[in-house]
Amino acid sequence: MKFPSLNVQIFIAAIGGVFFGWLAHTGEHGVALYAANLVGTLFIDLLKMVMIPLVFCAIVTGIANLRQHRQIDVVWKTTLLFFATTTIIAVVIGLTASHLFKPGAGLHLEMFSHAMQQFESRQMSLPEFFTQFLHGIFMNPFKALAEGNILAIVAYAMCLGIALVMASERYPQWLALFEEGMGLSMQMIGWIMRLAPWGIAALLFKLVATQDVSLFASLTKFMLVVTGTTLFHGVIVLPVLLFLFTGKHPVWFLRQAREALVTAFATSSSNATMPVTMRCATQNMHVKPEIAGFVVPLGATMNMDGTALYEAAAALFVAQLAGIDLSLGQQLVVCLTTMIAAMGAPGIPSAGMVTMVMVLQSVGLPAEAIAILLPIDRLLDTVRTAVNVEGDMIGSLVVQHRIEKLAQ
Ligand code: ASP
Repeated sequence: MKFPSLNVQIFIAAIGGVFFGWLAHTGEHGVALYAANLVGTLFIDLLKMVMIPLVFCAIVTGIANLRQHRQIDVVWKTTLLFFATTTIIAVVIGLTASHLFKPGAGLHLEMFSHAMQQFESRQMSLPEFFTQFLHGIFMNPFKALAEGNILAIVAYAMCLGIALVMASERYPQWLALFEEGMGLSMQMIGWIMRLAPWGIAALLFKLVATQDVSLFASLTKFMLVVTGTTLFHGVIVLPVLLFLFTGKHPVWFLRQAREALVTAFATSSSNATMPVTMRCATQNMHVKPEIAGFVVPLGATMNMDGTALYEAAAALFVAQLAGIDLSLGQQLVVCLTTMIAAMGAPGIPSAGMVTMVMVLQSVGLPAEAIAILLPIDRLLDTVRTAVNVEGDMIGSLVVQHRIEKLAQ
């Protein structure tokens, strides 16, 4: 009998994980949960283990090779333009959906007072957040590597890549070292992916089996609106943009991207998924390693369409709960802060919840209201992380297409 392909195995595992997690939800399943936790955490640990060396080597070699071909300028501008455009579209979709469907209508903040009392918000204003964000970009690279601080690693690796090019041919061994480091990391990712079906099944089993459903009923409409619109962005908007910019068929893309999308869904972490995202981009979609090496790690920290959409929709939802009508000006402030919040949110589970506080405060909404959203956050994080990761892969395809066009 022929063994199903890894893609199929991952898909079956995801469905199995959700199904058995749902079955286990009502009962006591200590041993199964223990095992699921063990396997799921092991899978994430393995991904994280290769992620830092991979990101570092990928960016250094990416920059060095791009500079050699005089392409860095185009790559950088196209990447940032693409990230900004898709994030704005996501924010507008989130706001529009909240206006159209009014998920907060009929609900009041007082209904959630119990949840809100237990929550202490950490005050974080926009200027504070901005200072913190800027402050975190440049730091001792060894500290950043040890802490797994992706933003700082990206910044240092970019500087090193540029230095290598500026030094011209003087340090060929260094460049070769990083290139080989990337190759070796990709080799290890291949091994880790054999564990992916088990890891993904275990993570989803645990997620579904341990969900606290008490607040779900009152928040069902909000969950449906957010999930529906995030899917709309991921299944329609982004693939259509891909088609318009590159002529690539959406179905082809979704097939090649499946491993990364399911891993993002199960881990809720763009960072942990990054090795798989790189693998899908370079091996399945044939994006040049120097382009994927630049766009994907940068995107994992900065390009979060799903998070932006969620935060915009959630801000309006909270305003509806509080019975506040946000003016057009206030909604523009929400747009802007949401973009910054999504850019600044690290690619880890529930990061969007933390930066959400800033969005709420920017228009004077009660930050404690995120206590209402916390219980459902892990569920919503699945889809939004998958869309975040999808945006990074589409970004690398768009950038590659533009480079190819210019080379013709
Ligand atoms: N979990 C998301 C990610 O890793 C970030 C978020 O919480 O929105 O992309």
